[in-house]
Amino acid sequence: MKIAVVGAAGRMGRELVKAIHANEGTVLGGAVEQKGSIAVGQDAGLLAGLGRLGVLITDQALETFAKVDAVLDFTVPAASVEFAGLAANARIVHVCGTTGMSETDDAAIKAAARHATIIRAGNMSLGVNLLVAMTKKIAAALDADFDIEIVEMHHRMKVDAPSGTALMLGEAAAGGRGVSLRDVSDYARNGQTGARKRGHIGFAALRGGNVVGDHTVIFAAEGERIEITHRADDRAIFARGAVKAALWGKGRPPGIYSMMDVLGL
Ligand code: NAD
Repeated sequence: MKIAVVGAAGRMGRELVKAIHANEGTVLGGAVEQKGSIAVGQDAGLLAGLGRLGVLITDQALETFAKVDAVLDFTVPAASVEFAGLAANARIVHVCGTTGMSETDDAAIKAAARHATIIRAGNMSLGVNLLVAMTKKIAAALDADFDIEIVEMHHRMKVDAPSGTALMLGEAAAGGRGVSLRDVSDYARNGQTGARKRGHIGFAALRGGNVVGDHTVIFAAEGERIEITHRADDRAIFARGAVKAALWGKGRPPGIYSMMDVLGL
C-alpha cells in the first residue's frame, strides 16, 4: 500500500514516515509540507532520521494524492479540512489525527466523508482507546455520586486544550451516563466558581517539558476514588496506529470511522 504523509516535517510527520517504512506491506509514496517550509525539497527519510528514501518533500498535495492509496494527516485543522476534500476527490483513505477542530471544521470533514473513507481519532494508540472504552463502562456503572474529572499533561509546544484525547474521554464518560458532554462539561475553573455541579465532567490541562501525553480519568465519590491512567512515552504508538488505520481503511466504503472501529473495540 502506498501511503503519503502530510506535515512530513512535524513531530508526528517524522514518526509517520518511520512507521510506514518499518511496516511490511506499506511504502512511503509521497511527503507534503506547507508552502514556504524549509523542509520542501528535502528527503523525507533523511529528515526522519532513517537515511535517504528518495522521496522528496513537496508542497503539491493534489499531485501527491493522485499517486497514493492513503494519506496520514497530523497537521493543523485548516490544513486537514483542505486535505479531506482533496482525499475525497482522489478517492483515497484519509487518516486524520489532527486535534483542535472547530464545529465548522467537523462539518467540513463530515461533508468530505461522503466520498472519502476517513478515519479520525484524537488518539490513535491502542492503550488510549482501551482507556476510552473502560471510561464509558465505568461511567455507565456508577451514578452521579461519583464526580468525573479528566486531567491531561502534554509538552510545552502543544497549541490546543484540552487535548483531543481528553475530549474523547469526556465524550465516553458522558456517553456512559447517557448525557451530552456539551451540557455537563467544565473546561476551566478560576476565581469564585461556586461548588462543583453534580453530574458535571471537569477538565484540567497541564503543559510542560516534552511530555508526549498523559491522561487520567478520576471518579471521585465520598470515601473512595477510582483513577485510571494512560501515559504515552513515545509518539511511535500513534504513528503505528495510523498505519494500521490506513491498512484497515483500504476498500472500505466512504464514511467517518474511528480508531474504535479499526481496533474492533
Ligand atoms: P507539529 O507542529 O510538530 O507538526 C505539524 C506539521 O504540519 C508541521 O510540520 C507543519 O508545517 C505542517 N503543516 C501545517 N499546515 C500545513 C499544510 N497546509 N500543508 C502541509 N503541512 C502543513 O505538530 P505535532 O506535534 O506533530 O501534532 C500535529 C497534530 O497532531 C496536532 O493537532 C496534535 O494534537 C495531533 N496529534 C494527534 C495524535 C493522535 O493520536 N491523534 C497524536 C499526537 C499528536
